[in-house]
Amino acid sequence: LKLTKVNLHRVLSDIVLLQRRAVEEGRKVSIQQYFDPSIPPILADESLLTQLFLNLIKNAQEAVGENGMVKVSSRVLSDYSMNQKGERRARMVAIEVADNGPGIPAEVLENMFTPFFTTKSKGTGLGLAICQKIVSEHRGMIKVDSDPSRGTVFTVMLPLIQ
Ligand code: ADP
Ligand code: MG
Repeated sequence: LKLTKVNLHRVLSDIVLLQRRAVEEGRKVSIQQYFDPSIPPILADESLLTQLFLNLIKNAQEAVGENGMVKVSSRVLSDYSMNQKGERRARMVAIEVADNGPGIPAEVLENMFTPFFTTKSKGTGLGLAICQKIVSEHRGMIKVDSDPSRGTVFTVMLPLIQ
């Protein structure tokens, strides 16, 4: 883990630029980005962060069909509430990767972070397992919300420098 001050939005927009040109099964997927410009640099391993968000964005591109849309956004979670010990919780940044694909069935949701679990004919099943490891190495959290009528949102929360 090589921690430096990383400009999160530069990392994300580099991936978005690259992946906008990627062709998935003969179609290009539109990717939009909405960043909160007030987010300061974060302490992170830049190459691991790139792997993390590239995996999530690729999964989103692979999930959507015709007229697929992927949205990458960032916001500060300004949660000043206390934990059980009465300490102020660390400020976090939340990065969302949302797609308008078919959503994720319950049996996949239960297993998708397990290494080698895949529903794709040429999948490795390693993407999300790697994402989870990278997020935990950065003392962050990852969660997923999925709904067959709206699609899937992966949210990565990472601590901001105090
Ligand atoms: P792989 O992409 O090689 O299959 P991953 O670990 O990246 O492996 O993902 C595991 C599984 O989780 C996928 O095979 C797919 O079934 C499911 N999945 C991940 N992201 C999404 C998504 N955005 N929409 C629907 N299903 C998803
Ligand atoms: Mg994957």
